Amino acid sequence: MYPNHIQLGQTMTPIFKLENISKQLNKNIYIKREDYTGIELSGNKVRKLEFALAEAIKDSADVIITCGALQSNHARATVVAASKLGLKTHLVLRGEEQEYINGNLLIDIIFDAEITYLSEEQFSNHNQVMIELKKQYAEQGQVAYIIPLGASNGIGNFGYVNVFNEIVAQEKDLGISFDTIVCAIGSGGTYSGLLLGNKLNQMQKRIVGYSVGGSSNYFTSRCVSIMNESQKYLNVAIHINEEDIIIKDRYQGSGYAKTSESDILFIKSIAKLEGIVLDPVYTGKAFKGLYTDIEEQVYNDSQNILFIHTGGIFGIGAFSEWFHMK
Ligand SMILES: *Cc1c(COP(=O)(O)O)cnc(C)c1O
Repeated sequence: MYPNHIQLGQTMTPIFKLENISKQLNKNIYIKREDYTGIELSGNKVRKLEFALAEAIKDSADVIITCGALQSNHARATVVAASKLGLKTHLVLRGEEQEYINGNLLIDIIFDAEITYLSEEQFSNHNQVMIELKKQYAEQGQVAYIIPLGASNGIGNFGYVNVFNEIVAQEKDLGISFDTIVCAIGSGGTYSGLLLGNKLNQMQKRIVGYSVGGSSNYFTSRCVSIMNESQKYLNVAIHINEEDIIIKDRYQGSGYAKTSESDILFIKSIAKLEGIVLDPVYTGKAFKGLYTDIEEQVYNDSQNILFIHTGGIFGIGAFSEWFHMK
């Protein structure tokens, strides 16, 4: 009853207990290492691509067109995954062509991705730009398949339904039941996939998302529309109540990909405490939100909490000058 997918990532990613943090906060805090989905494929995006690229192949695509920021994790994962499948990738990136390249962009270039660089202003029309590119490929006799921002759409949504099912299987092995699952929200597909997994499994876990740029209202409506798009792939009707959607926007700081002294110091403190590196764009903000909210008694009725480490390791280099701070 689910759409097809192709296995691309290293899945059944491990779940660990964060022993020191659990003691500090007097709760059982676990982490699911979605940053272990592969080296080049690291992070959450490969989960959504497993579904989106299966659809692209079904549509006989020759080239994948997608978009993102200059240091987009999603763009990099798409380039790597498409390459493995023998497909070309054309990226539409927000930013200027760089002389010195690092991080995700370096990987894009190693794989010879085609790149169109857009200014901030031009990027506001990225969907139109992708449609134009698709037309140009068609004129050359090539089929292009467009994956929207972050693969957060009806098909990509099933990536985190799969992860939710994995979590349910792992709970049995671990002998634990998570009452709450927490993730970062950038384009919404990870969060809405978990929510859909919760529904399809008829479970009542609390799924909490921390926005890294964008208001709760905005992401609540994004989430509803992603769900509506997913409906066409399902033969059961899904009803998401707005009360099921818990999205917090207090920890986004000054916006997407903007960091702060306190975020950096938090990331360093967690690294030293647990031996885990979070990233400044997504997981650092989300985990800081969870940690602070637990301290502020927001999670009083949760006992077993699972945080999803969605990746972002290649993005860290772009913030290197910040990390000297102590
Ligand atoms: C994209 C991304 C997210 C956010 O996931 P969405 O599905 O876009 O909301 C979180 N963490 C990392 C590292 C990401 O690259």
